[in-house]
Formats: sequence, structure tokens, C-alpha cells
Amino acid sequence: MLTLIKDAHIITQNAERKLVRGDILIRDGKIVQVGGSVEGSADIEIDASGDIVLPGLINTHTHVSMAILKGIADDIPFPQFLDRVFKVDAHRTERDIEAGAAQGCLEMIRSGTTTFVDLYYSQDIIARAVERSGIRGILGWAVLDQEYTTQKGVPLDNCARFHREFRGRPRIYPAVGLQGVYVCSTQTFLSARDYALENDLLLTFHLSETRKEVSDCKRKEGKRPGDYLASIGFLNDHCVAAHSAWLTINEVRGLASSGAKVSTCPVSNMKLATGGEAPIPEMLQHGVTASIGTDGSTTNNSLDMFGEMKVLSLLQKSSRWDPTVLPAQKVLDLATIDAARAVRMDGLIGSIEVGKRADLIILDGRAPNLRPSRPSSMVSNIVYSSFGTNVKTVLCDGKIVMRDRKMITMDEERTLSEAEDAARALLG
Ligand SMILES: [Zn+2]
Repeated sequence: MLTLIKDAHIITQNAERKLVRGDILIRDGKIVQVGGSVEGSADIEIDASGDIVLPGLINTHTHVSMAILKGIADDIPFPQFLDRVFKVDAHRTERDIEAGAAQGCLEMIRSGTTTFVDLYYSQDIIARAVERSGIRGILGWAVLDQEYTTQKGVPLDNCARFHREFRGRPRIYPAVGLQGVYVCSTQTFLSARDYALENDLLLTFHLSETRKEVSDCKRKEGKRPGDYLASIGFLNDHCVAAHSAWLTINEVRGLASSGAKVSTCPVSNMKLATGGEAPIPEMLQHGVTASIGTDGSTTNNSLDMFGEMKVLSLLQKSSRWDPTVLPAQKVLDLATIDAARAVRMDGLIGSIEVGKRADLIILDGRAPNLRPSRPSSMVSNIVYSSFGTNVKTVLCDGKIVMRDRKMITMDEERTLSEAEDAARALLG
């Protein structure tokens, strides 16, 4: 099976960050040529003349099935926000979790995300929607102490059951999730770590999202969350720590020396006004691999990684009074190749290179907000001028998921009406 993308501006995100003009040839899902002109015909040909091809974006922290909860807890203080969301969450059914996940996948496809990291319970239900959608889901089952959970049974056992049942399925990557220091004991952290490392799974968790989390942890454990997790030997190279907003330089060093990665969630932090700005420049200086997450739809309220890239860059520049902080190329790295590294899949995805799987998105080069189309400003246009709606075609693992803005893998009308019905049943 040969797929040929013709005459595109290709933002490769390879080691040299090369921009090339020409064709991309894909054989059985694998990229076999980048640039130049491919002679002969293919089974599927996509004319991309004047368009821009990028690696599919990677959202490293979300709660996808919360897509149908969008708008239920806006513009209120964080404690009230948690109260409202937990109350609704306690009444969720399998049907509305799946419907929400499907809607979230649809939103991600339309805005160019081809891989995401999720943190929630009931990942077996979410996986059904991800399988249908055609994109990749790294699905972290939420583990927390028994006394705090609404899950039936032991959360880590549920996580292990999900892993055993779903491992090896195409585009589904079971992972271990942890809610955070406020509901997980040292033993819970260490058991989750052991299971993840024994099975080579990603280990993702919330870290230092709020000041309260930091002060509570200092009171309970005598240390800040990052220092505490380092001191118990929890941090390792399979970790992706979401938020990581309230960190000291010592905690950044702890992340760096353990090989742990970070998913920063700028819009979520800003919208909840929790005040933290992840120290991304210091993380990068110390060699921490950083990436970007939207967080869930109750705190963002969008899954559009283009918006997230721009906000991240603006927040970091503005808070440092320094426009040289996080240049456009680095921001794009955080959403592509660095994110692939964060989820330990950089041998497979994250750049457009021969030998990698074809996770690609095509942006409409005719869109006024992306013109003029000069190679020297193309990356800048992507980070500062683009929206998810500029994405017109999406391929994941070589298969076309959306073509010329028409969904191929999912029935869009049905997905949206099911989500609408589920939201009505849940929220009234
Ligand atoms: Zn989160």
C-alpha cells in the first residue's frame, strides 16, 4: 500500500530541523521518502501543493472523556471547581465516558493531534473510542489510595487488568496514571512505579499544580512534592509529570537527574489562576525533556494544541519580560519531537523522517492567517498564527483519519449527537 503526498512544504522536525519542499512517500504506514519528486503512481495520492505538512501533534496531558463536561465549572475558585467536577464525575456512566472520549478524539483530530496521553479511570471504555478514532492513545489508568477512590476494587489492580487486556492493540498504549501527592501514599507511588517499570509502561501524574498542593505536602511529608517524590525513589525516565508549575530549582534538578519528563499545561494553569508558571527555561537548561498538555476540557476548555503552543510561548515570555524565551522552533519541538521523547516513542513518531511511522498533518497553505508562505517564517506562522481549524488532512500510522476536512474514521454527526445526548443525560 503506497500513499503519496505531493509537493508540500515539509516541516520535518528532524535533527537539523530542516524544511524541505517536495513529496512524501509512505509504504504500509512507514515513511520511505521525504522531499524530492517521487516518480510513478501510488494507491492514494494527496495533492498538497502550497500546503504545509507537519508531524502530528502530541498532547501529553489530558482527560479526554471530560470533553462533554466543557463549561460546567468556569470562572470559579479552584476548591469550588474541584467540588463541582467531582460531584458530576461521581455520576458518570460507561455510555457518557465513551461518548465524551469520542468527542474529544474528534476535536483532537480536527486540530491536528495524532497522539495523546490520558489520565482517568475506565480507560477500557475510553480505549474503545480511541480505537475507532484512528489516533494513538497512551492511556494512563488513574491510581490513588483506596480511601479516596470511587473505583470498584483496587485501583492498581484495575490498571493492571486494563494493561493485560489492551496491550498490543493497535495504537493503544496502556500506561500507569497517578492522581497526585494529595491522594496517593508513598506505598501507592512505589507500587505504581514498580508495575510501570516491570512492564515498561509510561508513568504519568499531576505534580505541583497549586501552591496548596505544595504546602499540604510539606506539612504531611516534610518536603515539597518534587523533592518528596525524588527522595522516595519514585522519579525515573518513564515519568511524565503534568503541570510541574510550582517547582524550585532543586526539584528541577531532581527531575533532570532521574530522567523524568514534564508536560506543561499553560492554559489550564492560567484559567484556574493557580498562579504557577512552569519553569520551562530552567528545565531546558538542566536537560529536562518538556512537552505540552491541554489538560481536560473543564480547565482549558479546548484540546487545540495550536492554541496551547501560542499561549505557552506568550506566558513564558511575558512572565520573564523576555521575548527571547521559548522561540517558535523550540515551542514546536515541545509539541512534536520532544513530546515523542517524553512518551518514549521518538523512534516511531514526532518527526517526518525515513523509517518513522506516518503520523502527519496537512495545514491549508491557502489560509490567509498562514500567508505569506515564506520558508523562513513558516515555523513562526505555525506557532503564532495558526489555529486547529487550519488542519485539513490527518494521517496516523499511515492511515488517513481526515481528508480535506472530512472525517474518514469516525461518523462525525453520530459522534457529536451521542455526545450531546450523553451531556444532557448527565448534566441536564
Ligand atoms: Zn490533569
